[in-house]
Amino acid sequence: MGRYSGPVCRMCRRAGAKLFLKGARCYMAKCAIDQGLPPPGVHGLRRSRKISDYGQQLREKQKLRHQYGMREGQFRRFFGNALRKQGVTGEHLLQMLETRLDNVVYRMGFAVSRAAARQLVLHKHVTVNGHTSNVPSMVLKVGDVVVVRDRPRSRDLATRSIESATTRQLPSWIAIDPKAFRGEIVSIPTREEIAPVVEEQAIVELYSR
Ligand code: SF4
Repeated sequence: MGRYSGPVCRMCRRAGAKLFLKGARCYMAKCAIDQGLPPPGVHGLRRSRKISDYGQQLREKQKLRHQYGMREGQFRRFFGNALRKQGVTGEHLLQMLETRLDNVVYRMGFAVSRAAARQLVLHKHVTVNGHTSNVPSMVLKVGDVVVVRDRPRSRDLATRSIESATTRQLPSWIAIDPKAFRGEIVSIPTREEIAPVVEEQAIVELYSR
């Protein structure tokens, strides 16, 4: 199945939470969630029925998957990798998602959204540790350095994003030098630093069925 390319605010309205899929608009009063719009569809305004445990788990998984712009197969592979690690699976999953190259580029402010960051990576506008990388799903580690390539087009795209990124809070686990178009991962983010809008334990339970 291909990547979803329809209206993305619907996903936030369905999830009932801000998934930050649209760049600068997500931080404005125009945001559909901030405006209190109901879930999409003709029955969106109806009082919702009580949702089953399975439905709730599915909803949490979809929220997280949509937030990071991933397809089901890839999301499941990430979960499989998290499961193989020692420790709390849900936390590992969140950390792996958060340290994906496209998400890191977004967090560093070089792109206005994760979708834009993905494009930036795919079109080879960034390097990781000095090497050009066009793999958005690459998981980075502490000490990895991401730089926007020293080309007019690349720097121009990043400059526009850095300006609009001033409205959002930059994460503490990344050291950023906007003038040099450079960012470094200084630590793996903790659960609190990631603060996603999901109950990750529900996702673990869903995939453990
Ligand atoms: Fe739309 Fe962004 Fe608001 Fe979601 S958070 S409803 S994508 S503007």
